[in-house]
Amino acid sequence: MDTEATLAAGRAIQPRLKDILAPAAAADAAERLDEILAADSSEPAMTAAAVRALLDEHDDTARFLRRFLDDPSFRTLLEPDGGPLNERSDGIDLLAGDPGPIDADLYRCPQGDYEWEHLQAGESIPECPVHHVALVRS
Ligand SMILES: [Zn+2]
Repeated sequence: MDTEATLAAGRAIQPRLKDILAPAAAADAAERLDEILAADSSEPAMTAAAVRALLDEHDDTARFLRRFLDDPSFRTLLEPDGGPLNERSDGIDLLAGDPGPIDADLYRCPQGDYEWEHLQAGESIPECPVHHVALVRS
């Protein structure tokens, strides 16, 4: 028996018991699973055996455990942060080329006679038309 995977299955199924079992059975299983998983983990093999015995009591949870142990993609799907990469970030992906909110940068001639607003990402910064020197960001 795969101790680690069985313990992971126990943790993965816990918040889903109410979707898998009838309400009374789900509440009972969730409470016992909670106790099993919270117990002293100095004997992980025994904890895993208890998880397995509990999940084997119901066909649907036994099936969940078997699938969890046999199917790595099912396991990945259930991991808390297993969603697509884009949904994990906070919305700004700097590598995607999204210019983000318009926030103009102001460039000035070092001699102070010319100002230019940099509005679009990728737009090149011109020279001062009078002095022909690079503008500096202010
Ligand atoms: Zn100038």
